[in-house]
Amino acid sequence: MSHLDPLPPLRDVIATHGLSAKKSLGQNFLLDLNLTAKIARQAGDLTNCDVLEIGPGPGGLTRGLLASGARKVLAIEKDARCLPALQEIAEVYSNRLEILSGDALEIDPLQHLTPPIRVAANLPYNVGTELLIRWLTPAQWPPYWESLTLMFQREVAERIVAQPGGKAYGRLSVLAQWRTDARIVLSLPPGAFTPPPKVASTVVHVTALPAPRWPADPEILSRVVATAFNQRRKMLRAALKGLAPDIEDRLTAAGIKPTERAEQVSIEAFCALARSFKL
Ligand code: SAM
Repeated sequence: MSHLDPLPPLRDVIATHGLSAKKSLGQNFLLDLNLTAKIARQAGDLTNCDVLEIGPGPGGLTRGLLASGARKVLAIEKDARCLPALQEIAEVYSNRLEILSGDALEIDPLQHLTPPIRVAANLPYNVGTELLIRWLTPAQWPPYWESLTLMFQREVAERIVAQPGGKAYGRLSVLAQWRTDARIVLSLPPGAFTPPPKVASTVVHVTALPAPRWPADPEILSRVVATAFNQRRKMLRAALKGLAPDIEDRLTAAGIKPTERAEQVSIEAFCALARSFKL
C-alpha cells in the first residue's frame, strides 16, 4: 500500500462508491498509487502550475498530481458516479482540487485555470485522440498549455512520435512534431489497469515549442495532411487532386515528387505545400 496521502486505497474507494468500470466510458482504472505518482512525475515540476486532468475516474492520477505538489488540479469527469470519491480528495487537499462534472469535449477549461498550465490524463481512446488534435491545432501558438502528459494505447503513442517512412507516420505525427517535442516516457502492460485493456498503454510527454518548426497555417496544414493520409497508399498527385487542379506543380514547388506517398513526406515539406494554399 502506498502512503501518498491519508486517503483509502483505490480498491476501497471503488468498492465504497460502487465504481464498477463502464466500457462505454473507456474506464480502465489505475489502482497502484506508486504508479500514478510515477506518471505524475513525468509531467515535470508542478509546484507552480495548474494542471488540467481529463477523466480522473476514482482519482488515482489526481492524487499523484496533488501529492507531487501541483498548485491546483482542475479535473473534468463525465461519470457522475465518480464525483463523491473526487470530493473526498478535494477535502484532503483544501482548495487545490476543482472538479467539473461533464464532457471534456464540451467544456472550456480556460476560465478555471491560471498559467502556467500543464495537462495530464489517462484518456479513453476516442476522446483522447480528439482532444490531442484540439490541443495541437489552436490558431495561436504557443498554446495555453506548456506540456501534455498523456496515456494512450501504445499504437497511438507510436503514431505521435513516428518518423517519416513507416506505417505509424501520419496526421498525428505531423501535427505533434510540427510545433512540439513529443517523446514516449513510460509503457505499461494491460495488467496495470483494472479491468485490463486488450493492448499495452504508453505515456507520451509533449512539450510546446515557443514557435512552430516551419511556418504554415494550422488549419490548412491539418487539411492537407488529413487528405494526404486519408488515401495513404495512393501517390500524392492522386490523393491530393481534390485540393487544387494544379496540385502536381504545387507538390513539385514544395520539393515533393508527385509520385511519392504521404508517408514519405517530411513535416518541413508538408509545411511548404500548405503554404502554397490560401484559406
Ligand atoms: N484517470 C483514471 C485512472 O487513471 O485510473 C481513469 C482513467 S479511465 C481510462 C478514463 C476516464 O475518463 C474515466 O473515468 C471516464 O469516465 C472518463 N471519461 C470518459 N469520457 C470522458 C469525457 N468525454 N469527458 C470527461 N471524462 C471522460
